[in-house]
Amino acid sequence: MHFPQLLTDPELRPYYSLHVIRLLIQGVIVAAFAFGVISSILRKKRILALTGMLFALAATAWGGSSVQINGSLHDGPAIGLDWFLLDMLLMAIIYVPLERLWPQYPEQGTFRKDWTLDVVYFMSTHLPIQILSFLVLLPATQAVKYLGVPALQHSIARLPWLLQFFLAVVVADVAEYFVHLALHQVPFLWRFHAVHHSSKALDWIAGSRSHFVDDTLVRGLILAPLMLGFSQNIILAYLIFVTLHATWTHCNFGPNAKWLEKFLVMPRYHHWHHTSQKEGIDKNFAIHFPWIDKIFGTYYYPEEWPEKYGLDGQEIAPGFLRQTIDPFIGKP
Ligand SMILES: [Zn+2]
Ligand SMILES: [Zn+2]
Repeated sequence: MHFPQLLTDPELRPYYSLHVIRLLIQGVIVAAFAFGVISSILRKKRILALTGMLFALAATAWGGSSVQINGSLHDGPAIGLDWFLLDMLLMAIIYVPLERLWPQYPEQGTFRKDWTLDVVYFMSTHLPIQILSFLVLLPATQAVKYLGVPALQHSIARLPWLLQFFLAVVVADVAEYFVHLALHQVPFLWRFHAVHHSSKALDWIAGSRSHFVDDTLVRGLILAPLMLGFSQNIILAYLIFVTLHATWTHCNFGPNAKWLEKFLVMPRYHHWHHTSQKEGIDKNFAIHFPWIDKIFGTYYYPEEWPEKYGLDGQEIAPGFLRQTIDPFIGKP
C-alpha cells in the first residue's frame, strides 16, 4: 500500500477492488494476532507464533489497511507482490485444511523441513510476473503468428463450452507429456527438472519447487498448441484449472475416489512420479489424465503409496541460489 506503483502488477490492478483488498489486509492482520495467540498457547516452539504477531504489529504500526494511496497509478515495470500474496493466501486457504484434516502422512506437518525453500520458489514464480508472463507468452504468441489456423479456431469455437474446455485440457496434457518426458530424458534438461524432484516430502507447496527454466519451458510449450485453436476464455479457464489441479496432485492428502482415479490424476498418482523407488522412476508423466501414460506405456499405479521421495542416488545443492545457478554450469 505504501509503494503500489512498484509492488502491484498493472495488469492485475483493474481486476480487484481496493475496498476488498483493504478488508482482506485487515482480516489477515487480525487473524495473524488471533492465530499467534492460539499457537503460542498450544505449541512448544513459539518462534512462528511470535514472528507472525511481530509482523502483524509492524503492519499495524505502518498504517495497516488504511494507508492512503496518493496520485494515480500508471503502467510500467513492477514487482508482482500482490499476485504472490493473493495466490499464496488462496492456495493455503484451499489446501492446508484438506492436508490437516485428511493427511496421508500425518506426522509430516505443514511447517515441515524445507518449507521455507518452497515459499522462496513460490515467490520466484510470482514476483517477476511481468518478465515470466512475457517469457511464457513469447513462444505461444509466436506460434499463433505463424501457425494460427482460423479454420480450426472457428470449428472449435462452434463446440459446446464444456467440450472445448475438455479438449483444451487433453491437448495441454499431451503437450505436457512430451515436454515432461524430454525433461527426464535429455541430460541437459534433467539438470533443471531435478530441482522439482528433489523434494523429500510432498505437499501443496512442494509442487512450486521448480527451476524457472523448467517452469517457463513447460508453460510456454503447453500454451503454444492451445493458442492455435482455442479462444482466450478457454485458455484462461485452462490456466485456472491447471494451477488448482497441479497443486492438488502434490498434496499430502490420503483419501481415494476409486471411480475417479482411473480418469483424473489424484495425489497418489503424481506421488509415484516423485518417488525414488526404482519401480516408479520415469513413470506417470501426465499431470491431468492417467490414461495418457497408459497409451504411451509409462503408467504405474499400485494401490499403496510410495515409501520414499526425492532423487535416486543424486544430490543437489541446498538453497535457492545454488539450485538456480548450478544447472547452467553443469553441476549435478
Ligand atoms: Zn518429472
Ligand atoms: Zn511434481
